Amino acid sequence: MSSPSLVWFRDDLRLADNPALRAAIDRDEPIVAVFVLDEESPGFRRLGGAARWWLHHSLASLAERLVERGSALVLRRGPAGRMIPELAAQVGAGAVFWNRRYGGPEREVDAALKTTLRTQGVEVASFAGSLLHEPWTVTTGSGTHYSVFTPFWRACQSLPAPRAPLPEPREVRGFPAPPKSDALDAWGLLPTAPDWASGLRDTWEPGEPAARRRLREFLKNDLPSYDRARDEPAAGATSMLSPRLRWGEVSPYTVWHEAVEVDGAGGFLSELGWREFAWHTLYHSPDMATKNLRPEFDAFPWPPLDPAHLDAWQHGETGVPLVDAGMRELWHTGYMHNRVRMVTASFLVKNLLIDWRLGEEWFWDTLVDADEANNPFNWQWVAGSGADAAPYFRVFNPELQAKKFDPQRLYISRWAADAPTEPIVDLSETRKAALAAYDEVKRAPRAPDRD
Ligand code: FAD
Repeated sequence: MSSPSLVWFRDDLRLADNPALRAAIDRDEPIVAVFVLDEESPGFRRLGGAARWWLHHSLASLAERLVERGSALVLRRGPAGRMIPELAAQVGAGAVFWNRRYGGPEREVDAALKTTLRTQGVEVASFAGSLLHEPWTVTTGSGTHYSVFTPFWRACQSLPAPRAPLPEPREVRGFPAPPKSDALDAWGLLPTAPDWASGLRDTWEPGEPAARRRLREFLKNDLPSYDRARDEPAAGATSMLSPRLRWGEVSPYTVWHEAVEVDGAGGFLSELGWREFAWHTLYHSPDMATKNLRPEFDAFPWPPLDPAHLDAWQHGETGVPLVDAGMRELWHTGYMHNRVRMVTASFLVKNLLIDWRLGEEWFWDTLVDADEANNPFNWQWVAGSGADAAPYFRVFNPELQAKKFDPQRLYISRWAADAPTEPIVDLSETRKAALAAYDEVKRAPRAPDRD
């Protein structure tokens, strides 16, 4: 009687360089591959609309690839702490494998599951698949975690190089009596009334094969000019890998090893470093999406919310061209260029004086790459409340930013040609008001940078 191996896919929707899948193949028993849509475990954040769209298509692609290789993808919906042991018992699994995740509530579920499954007599193992360095391996001389990027990244680089990516399996031997699966369509991840996803469909092709293709194209065509052009939103010079990394359609090990071969890849690799830094910060501060990393920011005197201002920002109706262009790009494609993310975020927090958490929630709902670490980390970075953050008094001037990074207004005319032209606030007056509010934070006791 065989005792199949259960491979639990989470944020690693790929076959190549998937250590959990590799461990199952090496165990040489049939494989039951499962994905659990868990919106019930305590503390789990419900996915935003754009992320749900991506997930639907990425799961469809993974399922198809597993079938091609002799297996299938079982879909289950519910709290993973219940669904995984039930499935393991149903198929008589001898082992359960997964790649680790680093959010606080997710780690709690995974730790409890290890105990439950082991009590059922099932072998359990977890692997590093989503980060180049495990968060507990990068520490300062005194054993604490870094709160400043440069020494963090230097420390990462002094560690042994990330392991080589694992090859893609040609065969994934399936279980002869595959358990029942939910129908993906029944999960309702795609928008229907209204169907707002046409811009997403025009922009993206989710799934591992497209991710690998995009990586190859980027390395060949764009990486050589990345450092020069990465800040220009009209240049199309960045990798567009963020949703692919978020969903694990390509592993950071694959990206790192292929990019490091290209001359002058340092700037690009350090962006992967920021991704690591954000995740390590989340590991140490699991409530980063709601709590200021710098506690002195709790004293920030946010004025009462003006809902009309928030609405204008969300829908690209602020009358500030670069801000409106960015917010419209986001609404249409589920993506926004990094430089413009910084400008739109700074405008919300420092010109509209709206709490960064409301901006973070909007991005969470609208970005295809929204994730638990990078989104709040970057919002806090812009707001000034975060790790190694931009100083609060550095207020991006959206007009100067447009002159510098979109001098021919190509990006602005693409996305905001018909946007209003009268700004909803006076940029210099609101900047002064923001600085005055910041003075109150300065008077609050300041937490020291650790390194
Ligand atoms: P590239 O320039 O090609 O960079 C390569 C990879 O490095 C990216 O795919 C991404 O994984 C990583 N990366 C690049 N910049 C950053 C950064 N500043 N912080 C962390 N990782 C980075 N990125 C997300 O992946 N998810 C988010 O939810 C997210 N929210 C953001 C919110 C705000 C307010 C800001 C300012 C930035 C946010 N970013 C987020 C970071 C960054 O904007 C995107 O990762 C980047 O624009 C993705 O485009 P790309 O893949 O072409 O990037």
